[in-house]
Amino acid sequence: MTALYFHIPYCVQKCRYCDFCSVPVNDSIGRYCDALKTELQLRRNQYPGLSADTVFWGGGTPTVLPADALAGVLAYADRLFPFATDAEISIECNPKTASFDALKTLRTAGFNRLSIGLQSADNALLQRIGRVHSFEDFVHTYEWARRAGFSNINVDVMHGLPGQTQEDYLKTLETVCDLAPEHVSAYALILEEGTPLHADVMRGAETLPDEDAVADMQDAGMAFLHAHGYRRYEISNFAKPGYACRHNLTYWNNEPYLGFGVAAHSSMPEGRNWYRFSVTDRIPAYLKGVARGRVPEADRILINTFEQMFETVMLGLRKTEGVDDTAFQTRFGCSVFETYSEAIEANRRRGLLDESDPKFLRLNARGLDLLNSVLLDFRETNYWELLR
Ligand code: SF4
Repeated sequence: MTALYFHIPYCVQKCRYCDFCSVPVNDSIGRYCDALKTELQLRRNQYPGLSADTVFWGGGTPTVLPADALAGVLAYADRLFPFATDAEISIECNPKTASFDALKTLRTAGFNRLSIGLQSADNALLQRIGRVHSFEDFVHTYEWARRAGFSNINVDVMHGLPGQTQEDYLKTLETVCDLAPEHVSAYALILEEGTPLHADVMRGAETLPDEDAVADMQDAGMAFLHAHGYRRYEISNFAKPGYACRHNLTYWNNEPYLGFGVAAHSSMPEGRNWYRFSVTDRIPAYLKGVARGRVPEADRILINTFEQMFETVMLGLRKTEGVDDTAFQTRFGCSVFETYSEAIEANRRRGLLDESDPKFLRLNARGLDLLNSVLLDFRETNYWELLR
């Protein structure tokens, strides 16, 4: 079993803060689904016999493509990489890009989890960050999705946005919680170089809340979500019981996944080796390469065992559950606690561990806030010494 990811690199327009691989909709969109089908066939030749237990369509905005076309590629993927009967099949959607009929088509085709990008319930703020929709558009999409049969919905919200106060952020969470989605992803804005928002902030035309204000928003947001029945299971992800995103857990558990489409990343075992690779981020090169029977990769890296071990810790510590030592031992033949004993001791002294379950290497809430500095200690592990 593996996880499949499909990247759709098109949006209605670019949001001012976004540096994801996406471009405004253009003529190439018509050929993109055919290219995905060809890529599915090429990857199937490379990985025969593979089946999928989670599927995720992200972007970009997958729902800028016609629902029939998305359904066609999904059915083709199911033929080549048979989906488990209980497969989680997610698709990202932005308000204003999917009608009720389109959502119905997607649900009937097998998509069973919808992730809607709201970001804020404040219309002035949505405009300020370049979103194409209003809060009212979001509510329509949400209600249509429920009517279309989606019983597992995520809503994306952001904090640390220009001019945003804690009160604004909590108001957004309140309106979201009133709708009772099964899952909320609550991300802090990352100011990425090269985006229009970054340029505005640099020349003083926009102001962002300071670091302390963002940290306070995060803490207040977490408390609010917790009080409304959402459990934090990853740094920025909250779910009602039983609704953690299985696909994203694949990434945080450092398990295999296979990506399709422009800029899609993969992490796959091949024989005794483990590779990470990504597809070119240039749409014309992708369409041309796939048409010629070759997926144009941007890079391909062999991940050695020590690197796999570190990545398993780096990703696993993002989860509130932490790293499962039993799974670590099954994969690597050694205990995470023995392998990283020095780093663990250093962070025990800093008071950043949650040691309530001896089978899991786990950070407490403060440790999750300081994850990057925690990982520096793990990065310094001398694996060769362990082999002596
Ligand atoms: S909708 Fe999402 S992917 Fe598209 S431009 Fe906005 S943030 Fe980026």
